[in-house]
Amino acid sequence: MAGETVIKPDLQFVNRVIAAGGDTVKKCYQCDTCSVVCNPTPDSKPFPRKEMLQAQWGLKEVVQSPDIWLCHQCSDCTVYCPRGAKPGEVMGALRKMCIEEYATPPQLAKMVGDCRYLPVLIAFPVVLLLFMLKFTGMIGVGSGLSIPAGPIVYSKMFPTFWLIDAIFVPAFFFAAAVLGKGVLTFWKDLNANNPWKVRVEGNLVGNLIETLKDILLHNRFRLCETTYTRSTNHLFLVFGFIFLAIVTTWGFLNEWVLHHESPYFMFSPIKLLAMVGTAGLLYGIYNIIKERKANAEKAGFGSYFDWLLIYVVFAVGATGLLSWLFRLVHIPILAYPTYFLHLTSVFFLFFYAPYTKMAHMVYRTVAMLYARMSGRGF
Ligand code: SF4
Ligand code: SF4
Repeated sequence: MAGETVIKPDLQFVNRVIAAGGDTVKKCYQCDTCSVVCNPTPDSKPFPRKEMLQAQWGLKEVVQSPDIWLCHQCSDCTVYCPRGAKPGEVMGALRKMCIEEYATPPQLAKMVGDCRYLPVLIAFPVVLLLFMLKFTGMIGVGSGLSIPAGPIVYSKMFPTFWLIDAIFVPAFFFAAAVLGKGVLTFWKDLNANNPWKVRVEGNLVGNLIETLKDILLHNRFRLCETTYTRSTNHLFLVFGFIFLAIVTTWGFLNEWVLHHESPYFMFSPIKLLAMVGTAGLLYGIYNIIKERKANAEKAGFGSYFDWLLIYVVFAVGATGLLSWLFRLVHIPILAYPTYFLHLTSVFFLFFYAPYTKMAHMVYRTVAMLYARMSGRGF
């Protein structure tokens, strides 16, 4: 029959949505209040009502939709939903499933999304770094940890930076390759499966620049009302992260290209940038934790997937700050183990990035770029 649409429901899909954190999805009775109160949604084919329906009906293509990424989980819809169906949380669960769908290998994605595997995931970088310390002679069988004498210089843990780069550089490229493969497939699927069948048009680079400006200024995020302050806290976090990424890149170039030794002069520009970055990151993440707990009743508490990234970012910032402080006041017995924890948390953040909520940085960028180029209200 002309115009007939064949739908292929996956009967297990709704169970996967529930397991991913959307346990309220079945409560939705399609009143559409959520789409009416959602500020970031486009006027045409608005979200999140249609995603609630797609999730309930087992239409698994919903995880390939750009719209799940146009939602910033502000929770305005959750507050006003008369059925307590928490559409904001369901959209978050769909994004988690999207990240899992495009991650390689899928088994690792499943492990990262499941709290039962957390000890194994932490053990991996710990064992890797302990192996390196054994290689450098800092730990020995029976002798335990040997704390280097004299001024605290963290590079003494790894007498040559080659050793530490041998762990972190492959980890970085692994994560970049998995993310790259994932977003390329996602982009292909966006064009193939979008329900409005529009072609992306216009200048890719120009539109990407506009999209990045939109993201960096949090223009869409700031349309939210219930958790408006989260956009400001997220802004602190993002810029803190960018500053620290610049510091890390500079440290790498300093070592490998300029052959200069760390630590840097106390008030050197790079040190000041590191301090401002750490302060921004910790201020942002602390307020995000506080605000999520304060608004848990009305806006939803968030899933394990949300909290994993929050606590890993907090661990990176806190161990970085403490390593610096312990070095300043010269407490080697605390400084070196804290630095070890810092390296462990940094490894965790980057190596598992394609499987954690960290991946939202790239998937949201690609979806917003697609939305802009296909005329989805941008
Ligand atoms: S999620 Fe809530 S507000 Fe949205 S359509 Fe369903 S019942 Fe209505
Ligand atoms: S959480 Fe906010 S952005 Fe997302 S669908 Fe609900 S109202 Fe819209």
